[in-house]
Amino acid sequence: MIFPRILRRALCLIFFSVIFGVLGLVPAQAGQWYTLKTKYLTLTYENPSDLKLFNDQIDFSPDANSFSSFSNSGPPTGTGVEQALARKLDALIEKVQLILDMRKPINIIVRIYPDKTALHEAYFNIYQQKKELRAWYIFEYNTIYVNVQDLFAGMLAHESAHAIVDHFLAVRPPRATAEILARYVDSHLNEEAKIY
Ligand SMILES: [Zn+2]
Repeated sequence: MIFPRILRRALCLIFFSVIFGVLGLVPAQAGQWYTLKTKYLTLTYENPSDLKLFNDQIDFSPDANSFSSFSNSGPPTGTGVEQALARKLDALIEKVQLILDMRKPINIIVRIYPDKTALHEAYFNIYQQKKELRAWYIFEYNTIYVNVQDLFAGMLAHESAHAIVDHFLAVRPPRATAEILARYVDSHLNEEAKIY
């Protein structure tokens, strides 16, 4: 009875390749992502250590830059690091809104990838082509994509400016105009905002 044994082996092989194939897809597609929601942002990240690094990378002083004392939202929930980060990020977004003079309720998703490879993979999965961007924003997904190892406050402010501009105006501005605005924001983030 050679034939059934071969058949059995073949079936075994198919069975295990399917199982491993499915398992192999799990981390890439449905890997567990954590979420931290602030007043203006929803951070999603794969590892708690990525959130800690994200916090270290964003050098922005909420006290010097915030007008949060005028906002009526309650204190953010979560651990000490999460609260401090939420406060810092919300102050950063308010500063971007102040520079642009574009204040409107908004909540932008920030997808935080652990490294360059994961970020570039994400780009490929979305666009089906290779492009090695450091960060980008997609209006249709209301999402900013960043690599936590290559990040700074100005970069996050720049991408947030794109989101704020696109959501504030009834008609999204041309890409060149949007880019001029976003660059103005990131280069003036730590200066006192001009009031017109
Ligand atoms: Zn840009």
